[in-house]
Amino acid sequence: MKYLVLLTDGMSDHKQDELGGKTIMEYANTPNLDYMAEKGVCGLIKTTPDGYYPGSDICNLSMIGYDPTRFYSGRSPLEAVSAGVELNEGDMCFRCNLVTYEGDILEDNSAHHIDNATAKKAVAALNSEFGAEGLEFVSGLGFRNLMVMRGVDYDIKTAQPHDIIGKDSLPHLPTGEGSEKIIKIMNRAGKILNSGDFGKANGIWIWGEGRKPSLPAFKDMYGLDASVIAAVDLIRGIGMCGGMKVIDVPGATGFIDTNFAGKAEYAIKALEDSDYVFLHVEAADEAGHMGIIEEKVKAVENIDSKMCPVILEGMKKFGDFRILVSPDHPTPVKLRTHVPEPVPAIIFGTGVNPDENQAYSEFIKPTFFIEDGYKIAEFFLKSTVING
Ligand SMILES: [Zn+2]
Repeated sequence: MKYLVLLTDGMSDHKQDELGGKTIMEYANTPNLDYMAEKGVCGLIKTTPDGYYPGSDICNLSMIGYDPTRFYSGRSPLEAVSAGVELNEGDMCFRCNLVTYEGDILEDNSAHHIDNATAKKAVAALNSEFGAEGLEFVSGLGFRNLMVMRGVDYDIKTAQPHDIIGKDSLPHLPTGEGSEKIIKIMNRAGKILNSGDFGKANGIWIWGEGRKPSLPAFKDMYGLDASVIAAVDLIRGIGMCGGMKVIDVPGATGFIDTNFAGKAEYAIKALEDSDYVFLHVEAADEAGHMGIIEEKVKAVENIDSKMCPVILEGMKKFGDFRILVSPDHPTPVKLRTHVPEPVPAIIFGTGVNPDENQAYSEFIKPTFFIEDGYKIAEFFLKSTVING
């Protein structure tokens, strides 16, 4: 059996007055997703454990089959692994977003999607300012960069920048042990980046703190050779920590302009020597953070029209196969951030008996409900018959 997870980051949403009371998933033209819902089963997955924030880290760990309450050690260390950064016991890693401030207001959490070349220049400027003090800034994708501090153990609380877009940033600055030091770094970085030489970036936001991660191998947990396809470092890092093969796709951007079809083609190809592929697509989440209904409709329709046909056609050649389609969390356009509501999922393929659902949306009639989100892996991979 071959298994494919199509993880549509942030896709689920709420009803919109602008769409006549429909959700984006209900409104978008998605014949392929609806086909899988009709021929498969639909259910709900609670990807965010109680007391946790519905970050992509927590929710994707759940969707891959790792219990976040056991295995989560912070967001940025997973990205650091992906970037090839060696973390030791006693090191701390942080996410360092390049951002745009208007005075104290955090006007944009991505420096308006700063391009890679300009972002690299900004990171180099930070390293030349702080390098002598033992701080390391590491380039990621665009605005998503990292800061590593060696030999510290702060008990610090930070805020996620995408939660404070358009708000006064001061009440959301880091608190707790070590926070004065971090705030000083943010202030000094602002002075360096303020020169106008770094696109729309005129400062940084430090968050996502964590320590060296340790995940058991996916193969040891589920007995399958696994691959992961994702543009964003976080998901690639989870894959690397879990001993999965990480596959690069040309033109995969982690944004609404990604190479949808190419990602699906590479996923099918990956299954020639893997049993399982986790195919992550970020576009709908980004459209949700932008807060633009039309962009999110387009992202959902691109997933349906450019990825699903390649997947549905490509899986056939393997004979027995199963497909799981699910967001990791909702990113409602009206809120422009994640919410911890359960996500709607489809399971389609071998050994799956159709339920009464005819279309895919947030309002499917759930045939299954996975209360501990990470148990979706066991359910999807190990159930001989689903809806038997
Ligand atoms: Zn998101």
